[in-house]
Amino acid sequence: MTRSEHSSDPAPARSAEGENGATSPYAFYPDLDGLGRQIGVKDDGRPGPLVIITAGLHGNEPAGIRAVREILHSLKETPTGGRIVALAGNLSAIQKGVRHQGQDLNRLWTREHLQPLGGRSPEDDTSDERELRALHSTIEAERDSARAKAQRVVLIDLHTTSVDGGAFSVVPDSIPSRRLARDIGLPVILGLEERIAGPLLTWLVSQGDTATVIEGGQHDLPGTQDVLRDGLWVALHHVGVLPEHDERVERARVLMRAACDEVPSVLDLVYAHAIDSDSGFVMDPGWTNFMPVKLGQALALEKETVVPAPIAGYMLMPLYQGLGTEGFFLCRQVGGVWLFMSRLLRRSWVEHSLRLLPGVKALDGRAGRVIAKRGASRVTTSLLHLFGYRKHAPTGETTVWTRRPQ
Ligand SMILES: [Zn+2]
Repeated sequence: MTRSEHSSDPAPARSAEGENGATSPYAFYPDLDGLGRQIGVKDDGRPGPLVIITAGLHGNEPAGIRAVREILHSLKETPTGGRIVALAGNLSAIQKGVRHQGQDLNRLWTREHLQPLGGRSPEDDTSDERELRALHSTIEAERDSARAKAQRVVLIDLHTTSVDGGAFSVVPDSIPSRRLARDIGLPVILGLEERIAGPLLTWLVSQGDTATVIEGGQHDLPGTQDVLRDGLWVALHHVGVLPEHDERVERARVLMRAACDEVPSVLDLVYAHAIDSDSGFVMDPGWTNFMPVKLGQALALEKETVVPAPIAGYMLMPLYQGLGTEGFFLCRQVGGVWLFMSRLLRRSWVEHSLRLLPGVKALDGRAGRVIAKRGASRVTTSLLHLFGYRKHAPTGETTVWTRRPQ
């Protein structure tokens, strides 16, 4: 399938009429015929964490579903620890081969979207809300039963992008999630929670779970499924559900290391270019993930005006498909010293001194919450980041910063 077939969402479902004239419900991806919410489960009754793997939260990203099927098939004869549950995301969008049908299922995991679902009839849901309701209740049932057994919960969320140019992992800035993503071996992107509201992984990490997104590469390239599969092998090994020595994991580790030469190993997402459907956003051709961007460089057209780069950095996820809520993201490299210091400081009493920073009005380290003046200075922002605090949208004169459980 070519990229252009994705460029005019909603894409028409291909005809898949069989000999008797019946149309398959998975007409767009015939190999996904019969797919249900649960892609598969592996539970040998041994101790270990609950690992939830989600794939296809975006309906035009089938590679994750195929990768997880490969893994579950390959694990059939392997004794595993904990419970591995693989779930499909936006089933009705997958049937049509479109990212979503009006609302992005990976932007709806907030209290303001989830709470109203409980108070109204499912018949009043939009198509994407029906998917949210079903996936949320499946995930919560799994988490409830894991909590009852004091099992740790890990989420691995598989995605692909509309552009090629390198796979990567995305994590909220919590130390266990960072560790998991660093072990996978792809470049790690921090800072998503300050730029995007409502991804599934932020919802779970804010409640103390460990989570990472793996972005495997361009939706339809053959190597993308391999990257997701190899990333999953390493992630499952990292969280302790696979045997200590397994040659499939060893092979995957080598391939993952080779996949990301010449790209910084950790980057901070510092800019997201939000768009809406009537802004006529068109990304300039030729951009791929991790291409260096100069300050002021022309990146796209919007309302027939050139969009210049507001900062220098690295390009991430330039939008080359019809549906999306961000046109592109920009990242900056994060140094090894920062990572080391942030690990060290988050365990120390020095945190109390944050209340002395200019602009900080109140600090509750136990609750992981800081109230600061809107538009805090660069020094204050940098130090709060170092201690793991990430800001929410400002309300009035103040901004609330929260820290994920570390
Ligand atoms: Zn996606």
